Amino acid sequence: MSRFNIEKFRSHFPIFDQKSGSKEIVYFDNAATTQKPKAVLDKYAEYYSQYNANVHRASHQLSAKSTSAFEQSRQLVHKYINSKHLEEIIWTKGTTESVNLLSQSLGHLCINVGDEIIVSQSEHHANIVPWQILAEHKQAILRVVPLTDEGLFDLDVLKEMISSKTKVVSFAHVSNVIGKINPVKDIVSLCKQHKVISIVDGAQAIAHLQVDVQALDCDFYLFSTHKMYGPTGVGVLYGKKELLNKMPPYHGGGEMIKKVSFSGTTYNALPFKFEAGTPNISGIVAFSSALSFLESNSVKALFSYEEELTKYCYQKLLEISSLKFIYPTSPHVPVFSFVIESQHNHDVATYLDAHGIAVRSGHHCAMPLMESLGLDGCIRVSLAGYNTFDEVDHLIDTLNSFSNSESYTSFSDASIAPQSMKSEKASDRIIHQFSTIKGWDTRHREIMLMGKNHPRMDSAFKSESNLIQGCESSAWLSYKVDNGLYQFQADSDAKIIRGLLSIVLAAFNGKTKDQILAFDVEYYFECLGLTQHLSPSRANGLKAIVEKIYAISKE
Ligand code: PMP
Repeated sequence: MSRFNIEKFRSHFPIFDQKSGSKEIVYFDNAATTQKPKAVLDKYAEYYSQYNANVHRASHQLSAKSTSAFEQSRQLVHKYINSKHLEEIIWTKGTTESVNLLSQSLGHLCINVGDEIIVSQSEHHANIVPWQILAEHKQAILRVVPLTDEGLFDLDVLKEMISSKTKVVSFAHVSNVIGKINPVKDIVSLCKQHKVISIVDGAQAIAHLQVDVQALDCDFYLFSTHKMYGPTGVGVLYGKKELLNKMPPYHGGGEMIKKVSFSGTTYNALPFKFEAGTPNISGIVAFSSALSFLESNSVKALFSYEEELTKYCYQKLLEISSLKFIYPTSPHVPVFSFVIESQHNHDVATYLDAHGIAVRSGHHCAMPLMESLGLDGCIRVSLAGYNTFDEVDHLIDTLNSFSNSESYTSFSDASIAPQSMKSEKASDRIIHQFSTIKGWDTRHREIMLMGKNHPRMDSAFKSESNLIQGCESSAWLSYKVDNGLYQFQADSDAKIIRGLLSIVLAAFNGKTKDQILAFDVEYYFECLGLTQHLSPSRANGLKAIVEKIYAISKE
């Protein structure tokens, strides 16, 4: 096996040439989407500048070229996952669309009142909600297989659950939160014994494992190309030909027909029967470059490098005593989910972000899993082939320094507790304070410090009516009016949000309705660097708080 050259592999990704502030970008959100190699970007330019034309339809040369590149990409996928027939590869927009296609088409084909569809507790919402919609529509029943203590699909429970009523079992090869490989072959073989259709959501597996759909023997295998160094907006639905031939189309339109007439329409052959309308031609063509790129770098060597990185990262994270994995034992692919004791997930994630490290915090589109664990969410660190051991070390150092940051002191000369300040100048003082500190990581520290010093709200005020909609974490706002002057009080379970609340209240507390409505909050946030640096979800949370204050003062 050829040795994996990480420096060379990483050098193909232009995004790493830039910095986050003064720091190198450490991208650990690969389970959400991976970065793209230059070959993929170049392929887009090649396609649009040399042979942009619609596929399959015209008799001109450009269309012939475009169709050939488009079909060449299908050939590469056919080989990459070892499907028996080329026409078993169907292009979709992504895993989500693939599940929707299956739920609708199989729904017409074989789901009736009282039939059962089985998924697991750890599924991504994309592999839950389409089945719920179908079950509701058909009065079918959605059943849920729990997980073993290690976070795997519990095969023993499936053995008990599966019956003559079961029509479909749909489950992830690898959960996007747990990172462990489910016993696919055993599940599929059990399904076959009971003549049940098996669907494997391969969205997280495809970037880290060599997938052979014939060896797995599943009826369907689904994935999105953006999670394996390819473009967004392209997905693959592999299905066994015999089943696909029996299934009715999902979308109707051009391309998927043989003949259209008001007296009756006939459908095209596979795979086109399921590819209505103009597909994402450029994305599909560019995906061929992602596959060629992977093959040219030796997929085997890449995956074995990832295995080493996974072991290393797991061991290092284990050494942080306050860190609790949501499931014990190492994940099989580099997806690590955990919480830090006594810390809010968003506080940890924003601290890491301020140090140039991109991770995810929240429910990861797996709310039922979080609920079963009694968690609001967790932090997810997900790695890819371009990540390095040094980056893992940087993560560990930063997590350790986060624990120490509890003893923060202010960087500015005059540390303030804005909520207690009634002066109109409170916001000016914050602007002044922030102007003396450079760099987002230092400003972020300051906001965290404000969050730490922010007075907590009495739990009696944390009512449903005081809850602020739009925040990813919970926040509450209450107020009173004295002589026409508004006094707001606010709280949140996340320290970073409390810091932001301090900043917002400094702008509005002790003011009249007219002063509140006249205050230029956008300019204020811009001065503090919030507009440029806050993540979209945090910025939306901030907007929701300000809007609630406006609504109150207009009452
Ligand atoms: N299933 C799993 C396991 C996933 O991780 C994801 C993406 N996070 C999806 C389905 C949905 O994929 P997409 O958004 O690309 O359709």
